Amino acid sequence: MKYRGWILPPALRDFYEGRIWLKEHSPFPKDHIERVIEYDYFHIIEGIQKEPHLKCNRCHNQDPWQFTMFDCSKCEQSCIYCRHCLQMGRVSSCTELLIWIGPRAIRSRKHPLKWAGQFTVLQQRAAKEILESIKAKRSHLLAAVCGAGKTELLFPSVHYALEQGLRVCIATPRTDVVLELFPRFQTAFPSTIIHALYGEAPKQQGYAQLVLATTHQLYRFEQAFDVMIVDEADAFPYIIDETLQRAVKKAKKKDSPIVFVTATPSQKLLHQYRNNSYSFIPKRYHNYPLPVPRFCSLWSYEKCFKRGKIPAKLKQWTEERLVQNEPFLIFFPKVELMKIAAPLQNSIHKNY
Ligand SMILES: [Zn+2]
Ligand SMILES: [Zn+2]
Repeated sequence: MKYRGWILPPALRDFYEGRIWLKEHSPFPKDHIERVIEYDYFHIIEGIQKEPHLKCNRCHNQDPWQFTMFDCSKCEQSCIYCRHCLQMGRVSSCTELLIWIGPRAIRSRKHPLKWAGQFTVLQQRAAKEILESIKAKRSHLLAAVCGAGKTELLFPSVHYALEQGLRVCIATPRTDVVLELFPRFQTAFPSTIIHALYGEAPKQQGYAQLVLATTHQLYRFEQAFDVMIVDEADAFPYIIDETLQRAVKKAKKKDSPIVFVTATPSQKLLHQYRNNSYSFIPKRYHNYPLPVPRFCSLWSYEKCFKRGKIPAKLKQWTEERLVQNEPFLIFFPKVELMKIAAPLQNSIHKNY
């Protein structure tokens, strides 16, 4: 063996464990990668498999319309590439994908939780139910209204998993959610290496036992996580993109549970989980229930406003709010209409 006695850089192992990565996109020197290949620490697979049908081995896209044939300068043949995950670097037939099968990264079991908040009775129950599901390796649905403190509810489960030496991923379809969650988890778990992964994310050091990522970034993982949490499980584009849903499944280990967290569970999720692993919080953290909207018609309001009058029904409703000293919001579908209505509404306010 050419590289006998060579010592594997821990940073390389820490980066690659759980990832599926283009060989040519390595953030490490080429000769290091060659050494690791000689040590058989990588399982190498082709980028696009042709049999039994076309499939991108990174993003698992199988839609024949999302592949393009081109004259490849690298292999000097007709090559096929996957358009579906193109923005993460082109995967084509002659691409080699690296999957780490070398020594495992060192996982810590010490992850102190620094969170001093208190749960309401409902939150406490939901947090306990999620934890029980995680312990039993059972997938779980948490349906909680906005403002129910969903993130904090996850702390006990994440804490338990980390201290078991497990690797946890919190995935969400939205980058802004990753950016919002990152500092909150960093504060709650100050001794834990946490990575936040999204498009254009800076390079982060060490082996992250807790990963916060957009669902898109999960294309780059394979059987990596022992616990998968999908936040905003009904947000676009995750809800309509089957490949993203497959990415979540592929990024976790086969028997790892998924916790779906959402304010608006789809019928499909409810149907799947309502009767077994399901927590529901209809109240926000301050314990006021979320008002349930009620439909009241207000016909021809636009005409009425344009004639310089507030529709009688709306006028009465506004007066009731003012008498009861209740805050309220009136939403207009058009800015121009709002400009007409605002002074009229203000004239009612003057009387109170
Ligand atoms: Zn792909
Ligand atoms: Zn090629």
